[in-house]
Amino acid sequence: MKVKNIILSDEDTFKVVSVIREYDYVHIYLESKQKDCFCPKCQTVSTKLHSYYNRTFKDLPMFGNMSTIFLRSRKFYCLNNTCQVKVFAAFLKLILLQSLKTL
Ligand SMILES: [Zn+2]
Repeated sequence: MKVKNIILSDEDTFKVVSVIREYDYVHIYLESKQKDCFCPKCQTVSTKLHSYYNRTFKDLPMFGNMSTIFLRSRKFYCLNNTCQVKVFAAFLKLILLQSLKTL
């Protein structure tokens, strides 16, 4: 089974760019493939990309090794002129799954 299939299902919004193993550490580089996203305030769908941002998740145990996930995600403009939110970060399903496991 490929590492990509273990980490992400077909429904996820990220793709694995690369996986690098060094000694007992695994570095996983992910990139968002999300083409649109709901504004968290007004729920309007936006396809207008604002920018990318990087997040890092360190010291996650995986396959008996410690790992670091480098995630390149997206920010979108809200297309609703009456909304107070002008720019918002795409929802990170990966973080939600992680936080559910730690509760
Ligand atoms: Zn909005």
